[in-house]
Amino acid sequence: MTWLVQPRLINDPYSDPGLFVDFRFGRRALLFDLGDITPLSSRELLRVSHVFVSHTHLDHFAGFDRLLRVCLHRTLPLYLFGPQGFADRVQHKLQAFTWNLLDENSLDFILTATEIAGDGITLACEFRAREAFRRRELSVSYVNPGRVLDEEAFWIDAAVLDHGTPCIAFAFQEKLRVNVWKEGLDSLGLPVGRWLDDAKQAVRRGEPDDRLIAIPGVQPVALGVLKQRALRLAPGYKFAYVVDAAFHNSNVEKIIRLAQGADQLFIETAFLDEDAALAVERRHLTAAQAGAIARKAGVARIVPLHFSARYVGREAELREEAEAAWRG
Ligand SMILES: [Zn+2]
Repeated sequence: MTWLVQPRLINDPYSDPGLFVDFRFGRRALLFDLGDITPLSSRELLRVSHVFVSHTHLDHFAGFDRLLRVCLHRTLPLYLFGPQGFADRVQHKLQAFTWNLLDENSLDFILTATEIAGDGITLACEFRAREAFRRRELSVSYVNPGRVLDEEAFWIDAAVLDHGTPCIAFAFQEKLRVNVWKEGLDSLGLPVGRWLDDAKQAVRRGEPDDRLIAIPGVQPVALGVLKQRALRLAPGYKFAYVVDAAFHNSNVEKIIRLAQGADQLFIETAFLDEDAALAVERRHLTAAQAGAIARKAGVARIVPLHFSARYVGREAELREEAEAAWRG
């Protein structure tokens, strides 16, 4: 099976949490959290189209300046998502710099800040380089409850958790996995090529079987024939990203609903259970709590992250505690 996206942690688990999600096809990537992003190359950052910021504590948002600097001279817009108050913080960040060299002749890099609260998007605004990043309000379009992005190949859901301040957890869901079966292509006498992307998109859009797919150099083929003989369909890949959450019923229920059945759950395991009292005070999860949540959500794999610095040298204990609770 070929993958649509490949998520990877940006830093070691004691450093700032964050996920870089690279697309296999098309020069594109997503970011979850925007703390220390120095391990990412400029080339990787230039691929980032959407950034999902859980909350604006320093370790989740301090990388904004670097991302802005790298993206300033590109034409691809940058879409940022965050909790209530996020647009003001992006605006303040932008206002911290002097933009007298920008005018209507500048390359028009556009940055959008979208706020998530309750069960959806509540506010959005944009900042354009040609307007020296003056704030402009946008009208918001309501999608499904909890859905903050819905594209052809995937969607992203969000849940607002409590961390003393709103902290957003996210789930990425590939809609339908469409893979090419090479032997099937050969049996139809069809070449490999770009046209396969059109065919895959047509399948994801749910187009009818008699829809003809154009193929360079040969006769068009009906989508139904391709589905039967050359394409393999499977449920899409899902991952969830959960950081900084107090351990209480409301948070736990929201995380379980969001991460249900995920292939991978990236989740904070800030403290060991021996320091559960401290975890309550700081409104973080322990490794055992994160593992128990992963078990209830029925995820296929748990990836612990965001370890407290007090456990340097005790990484194995954190991982074991999380795994043990996940296995049950
Ligand atoms: Zn944090």
